[in-house]
Amino acid sequence: MILFFFGLSAGVIGKIKGSSFFLWFLIGFCVPLFGTIAAIVYRFEHAEPQRRCEQCGRVVKLHEQVCMTCGRDLDYPDAPVPAGTAGHLS
Ligand SMILES: [Zn+2]
Repeated sequence: MILFFFGLSAGVIGKIKGSSFFLWFLIGFCVPLFGTIAAIVYRFEHAEPQRRCEQCGRVVKLHEQVCMTCGRDLDYPDAPVPAGTAGHLS
């Protein structure tokens, strides 16, 4: 029963992320807890790409068109910056 819960939770998280419910259900069922954590991390890494404002240096969400700190208009970047790497850009 507990394995079903882990599989279900991982599947739901994977589904929210836009991935396969059945795939993540199997992962969560076969590797309980780890599968759920993997689904959560997988979602966060891919769902919220970030970039750095050229003017004030504030890290903003990729989909934001205007910096909320300095009001600068942000052009949509040619290449999306994965979350976690924006802080390393100068
Ligand atoms: Zn700014």
